[in-house]
This record gives sequence, structure tokens and C-alpha cells, in this order.
Amino acid sequence: MARLSRRAVLKGVGLGLVLGATWTRGTLRGESTMPGTSAKPQEFVLPPLAYKSLDPVIDDATLALHHDKHHAAYVAGANKALVELGKARDAGDFALVKHWERELAFNGSGCVLHTLYWASMWPDGRGKPGNSLYDAIDAAFGSQARMLAQFAAATKAVEGSGWGVLAWEPATTRLVILQAEKHQNLTIWGAVPILICDVWEHAYYLKYQNKRTDYVDAWMKIIDWDAASKRFAEATK
Ligand code: MN
Repeated sequence: MARLSRRAVLKGVGLGLVLGATWTRGTLRGESTMPGTSAKPQEFVLPPLAYKSLDPVIDDATLALHHDKHHAAYVAGANKALVELGKARDAGDFALVKHWERELAFNGSGCVLHTLYWASMWPDGRGKPGNSLYDAIDAAFGSQARMLAQFAAATKAVEGSGWGVLAWEPATTRLVILQAEKHQNLTIWGAVPILICDVWEHAYYLKYQNKRTDYVDAWMKIIDWDAASKRFAEATK
């Protein structure tokens, strides 16, 4: 099986490729983004649609409302959360941090997933899985038909609001099909973890009991910035 390189996966190409997307970081952050530099971080943007209509599969009114109103609202909401979190940092006042982090996750995931959704479709469809994607589908599912059967079943079975996703899972270097229910629960799709602190109770309860704050404050003193720096360098290659 032809495997995507770690670098390609970390650049977000994996998910985009899998979904037939032309999605890149630039699409989400603006053309002037220079990954891996200290350039000012970009805002989320509403990418224009690459087609005028997907009729008859999706009617024109739905397409227009979905893109121009719903997706646009996610973009505005994500950028608003970024601004408000900046104000909180400036003021040293994190009383509303839970609210704005939730807003960022909900709207940020909405931005990423809608951008991938638009880029996963083309009027009447087009093309077929390229060589490396074909091989990866074959290795993980047995055939394209078997993959599509599971994808359709999983997507139909999403409970409530959500998404069906074919994704590259880098830890196992294989394709997987995922259901995303309430996409805010999964933070921002495509984000690459750089620094992680576990706050499930099993991570601290024997020593700190219910004092999670003490655990987190203490945790700040044992950060491996060398490892984090390496992860950042790989993610922004
Ligand atoms: Mn939507």
C-alpha cells in the first residue's frame, strides 16, 4: 500500500485528499499565510464556491443559503471568538473563557468541515480515486464499493446533527470512516496538537483530588518545549 508521508498528513493534505478536496491551510487562513513563520495568524475566511450549481442533487436555494448564510455565520462566529479571546488575554480576565473556547470549537469546526464539504462535491461528480488513495482504500476496506457502503451507512446513522467523514488516521496510517456528532465536541477538525494536558480525573485525582487547578498550575512547570517545538516544526513544514 502506498502510504501518505507524515509530512503530507500533518499538512492536512490527508483529510483533504481523502475527501476529494483541494483544501489547504491557505483556503482557511487566507492566501498570504506563511506556515511555520511568525507571520500574523490569519482569520477564518468564507471560500467562494467553485461551481454555480449542484442541481438536481442539491437545489440552488439550499446551496445558496447553506454557503452564504450558514457557513458565513460559522466564519463570523469563529473570528468573533478569536477576537474575544484576545480581549480576555489583554485584560487577564478569563471569566468567560469556557464560553469563547466553545464558540471557537463550534464555529471553527464548522468552518473547516464546510470548506471540506464544498470541496468534496462537483456537479455530476468527477474523476476517480488516484493511485495512492485507491491503494489506501483497498488496504483499509477491501474495495471502493465496500468503503462507500460503510461511508453511506455511517453517514445515515449519525445521531442528530453531524457529518460522515472518511479520514486518514496517522497513528495507524490507515483510512477510517468517522461519524462526527456535534462537531464542537471534537474541537477543530484538522488542527494538529502541539501541547497536550490531560484533565480527565484519572490523570490527577490520586494526588490532587478535586483540585484540578493545582494540577494544571503544577503541570505548567514540566512542559517539554523541545518536543513541542519539534511537533510545531513538523506541522508547519
Ligand atoms: Mn452545514
